[in-house]
Amino acid sequence: MVTGGGSGMGLEICRQLAARGDKVAVVDLSATAAEKAAAAIAESGGTAVGLRADVADRSAIDAAYVSVREQLGPIEILVTSAGLDEFCDFTEISAAQWDRMIAVNLTGTFNCLQATVPDMLAGGWGRIVTISSSSAQSGAKRMAHYVASKGGVIGITKALAVELAPSGVTVNTIPPGFIDTPMVRRAEDKGDVPDVNLIAKQTPVRRAGTPQDIAAAVVFLCSEEAGYITGQALNVNGGWYI
Ligand code: NAP
Repeated sequence: MVTGGGSGMGLEICRQLAARGDKVAVVDLSATAAEKAAAAIAESGGTAVGLRADVADRSAIDAAYVSVREQLGPIEILVTSAGLDEFCDFTEISAAQWDRMIAVNLTGTFNCLQATVPDMLAGGWGRIVTISSSSAQSGAKRMAHYVASKGGVIGITKALAVELAPSGVTVNTIPPGFIDTPMVRRAEDKGDVPDVNLIAKQTPVRRAGTPQDIAAAVVFLCSEEAGYITGQALNVNGGWYI
C-alpha cells in the first residue's frame, strides 16, 4: 500500500516495489493518477490496483483497505507518501489551514497506520516507511503548520516502532531533503522556494534529489535484510543536516 502513489516520489516508490515483485495498491486523492500508475505497472508485467481515497477521511481509507484486501490480500508493506505542502506567514495561518494540514499529513498517516497494523500483527511481519520531511529537523520559514505536521510524523513513527518491535514489524521514516517532484515545481512556480537549479548548487552533493533516490531507500527499508532497522529517520537529503 503506497499512499500518494499517483505522483512524485510515491509514484516511483510504487514502480520500484512492483519491479521487485510486490503487488502494489496505489492510493491517491486523484483516481485518474492512481489508476494510471496501476495501469503502467500492469503494462510492465507487475500487479497493481489504483484507488482514490483522501487519507484524512477515515471511512474512505477503511473502505480502500477492504477493497485492497479483497483484490491483493493482507497489507504487508505500507509507505505513506500522501502529503500536502503550503507556504504562509505564521501570523496568517488560519485555523482551517492548520486543521487541513494536520488532517492530511499527520492524521492521514495515523489513519493508514492504524488500518494497516492488524494485518501485520496477524502475519508476524511488516515493513512501514513514513515520509516525513527534513524541514521537521531544520525548521523552515512560512511552513510552521507543515513542519509541525511532519514533526508529528517522525514522532508517531518512533513511537510505533518501539511498540511493534517484538512483532516482526519495522517502522521507519524518511525525511527527504529537496526532491524534484511536482510538489516542488509548483512551489517554485509560485515563488515559494528558490529556483530548483539554485538549490541544487547549494546542496552538498550539488544536485536536487530525485524520486528514484527516495524510492531506493524505501525499497531497502522494506527488504528482509533491513529487519534490524526500526524507529530510524533515514536522511535522504544530499548531505544536509548531518
Ligand atoms: P507530489 O508529487 O505532490 O505527490 C504527493 C501525492 O499525494 C499527490 O499525488 C497528491 O495528490 C497526493 N495527496 C495529497 N493529499 C492527499 C490526500 N489527502 N489523500 C491522498 N493523497 C493525497 O509530492 P512529493 O514531493 O512526491 O511528496 C511526497 C511526500 O514527500 C509528501 O508527504 C511531502 O510532504 C514529502 N516531502 C517532499 C519533499 C520534496 O522536496 N518534494 C521534501 C520533504 C518531504 P494530488 O496531486 O491529487 O493532490
